[in-house]
Amino acid sequence: MADAHVHTPPPANEAVRSYAPGTPERASVQARLADLTDANTEIPLVIGGKPVMSANLRPINAPHRHELVVGRHVTGGVKETQAAIDAALAARPGWASTPFKDRAAIFLRAAALLAGPWRDTVNAATMLGQSKTVQQAEIDSAAELIDFWRFNVHYADQLLAQQPGSDPTAWNRMEYRGLEGFVFAITPFNFTSIALNLPTAPALMGNTVVFKPSRETLLVCHFLMEVLRVAGLPDGVINMIAGDAVQISGQVLADRNLAGIHFTGSTGVFQSLWKTVGNNIAKYRTYPRLVGETGGKDFILAHPSADQTALTTAMIRGAFEYQGQKCSAPSRAYIPQSTWKRIKADLAEQVEGIPMGDIADFRNFMGAVINEEAFKKHKGAIAYARGNARSSIVAGGRTDARQGWFVRPTVIETTDPSFRLMEEELFGPILTVYAYPDKDFDRTLDIVDQTSPYALTGAIFARDRAAVIKAADRLVHAAGNFYVNDKPTGAVVGLQPFGGARASGTNDKAGSPLNLVRWTSPRTVKETYVPPMDYRYPYMADELPT
Ligand code: NAD
Repeated sequence: MADAHVHTPPPANEAVRSYAPGTPERASVQARLADLTDANTEIPLVIGGKPVMSANLRPINAPHRHELVVGRHVTGGVKETQAAIDAALAARPGWASTPFKDRAAIFLRAAALLAGPWRDTVNAATMLGQSKTVQQAEIDSAAELIDFWRFNVHYADQLLAQQPGSDPTAWNRMEYRGLEGFVFAITPFNFTSIALNLPTAPALMGNTVVFKPSRETLLVCHFLMEVLRVAGLPDGVINMIAGDAVQISGQVLADRNLAGIHFTGSTGVFQSLWKTVGNNIAKYRTYPRLVGETGGKDFILAHPSADQTALTTAMIRGAFEYQGQKCSAPSRAYIPQSTWKRIKADLAEQVEGIPMGDIADFRNFMGAVINEEAFKKHKGAIAYARGNARSSIVAGGRTDARQGWFVRPTVIETTDPSFRLMEEELFGPILTVYAYPDKDFDRTLDIVDQTSPYALTGAIFARDRAAVIKAADRLVHAAGNFYVNDKPTGAVVGLQPFGGARASGTNDKAGSPLNLVRWTSPRTVKETYVPPMDYRYPYMADELPT
């Protein structure tokens, strides 16, 4: 074997395409969207590199068109879950001994395939399955996932370069091993990039994975598993399973070889996984690493010195893009009464004018919410606000389930900063505003900090620098991603590493070295050149004659 000290190529963020009328990318993604709309794709499990089909198929309907079945997926049970665990364990020795540069090359090739020939397929599948506009699909399933794959390679390389010191008697080294066992990746519906980052980040570090995506993302995950296969990922390194989440998780968490969980989703589910691991702790071969990015109740706080137009735009884009179903979407806003008086009518007018509908119609800014359960939850929250003396509907407040799960972008005003909708995560297009007395900025900082158990994202809007300093200081634990004069969504890999604390997660910052470090169990090696030949130390020698 020839030796070289290889460096991975420096990463750059993938450019986001515009899809404006007349552009070639618009025509090509529209053509792919039309193909996939009619394809009724069959989605197998992928175990040991082989597609697992069955007669037992479950339909996936487009959220914006109930009657449209975009795919039918295999539902696995106990047998398939065990097969996925076994396949991950069988692939582990070969993958763990594959040199880093070769593992990295597979993910760099996957990034290039996604940036080029697979981009339209993956974007179109995300649009159909998750009801994303082309813009929202492009920044997620294309740009962010490409960035995850390229930047993670770079960060892993930096991590491997971290080595201890040596002296003339011995050479010390750190070897970055994968964890002993397999990693379980459980992923949410709302980001394709997260769905694939969670299994691939541990895989890059030498781990093999059982991957359970959210049902709503199975169409796009099916294509991305194919991208990884074409890129050269060996059989069994990532095994995709679908079915009853509780059964699958219960079985996987009972396996003594569970070495880690890479989770993104709701706080309650992560806490239940943590409890199960706690109950099983004596059974495991090693302490499983628990990484979870979970819920949020993200905020926008405005100071009386805030720029009103920037504030209004941030509230609309932040709260309503992708129907408010971003973990980072602001769902509570604290606006000084004087500012609120000036922006309220304009905000309401803009929100009422937001175009919403089928994502195949590129004039729309919003699609449908993900499923009936979400729709009912949002409808219930709006009804609660409408019937409450402490709140009123400023804009939106209408729902329509005839063709799809459509919830109009809704702004609610409350006179009570502890109003239920200021505290609970709804994960939909509902923004609740509390207009605070201008003189109470300091008191409002405490309210923002203490109103919810979460601490994911938040933003301060102010021209006054002293207000920015004060907010950044007082809200130091209220958000893992804090924005000054910007909406609190849209974090970019390599620029704003993402994650929150408190009930929002373990804050291991996806797309950064801090995340990758969780998927490695380093071994320190000391190699001594001339070992001692006598156990006795000099101090033990006979005393000198006096
Ligand atoms: P979810 O918790 O319902 O589901 C996440 C995953 O867990 C899915 O694969 C699901 O099938 C599985 N699951 C559901 N119930 C389970 C159970 N009882 N046992 C084991 N697995 C189970 O979350 P979701 O609705 O897909 O996503 C929305 C949530 O994710 C929101 O709370 C949002 O804030 C959060 N989120 C957080 C981040 C972040 O970075 N902090 C990012 C995206 C989404």
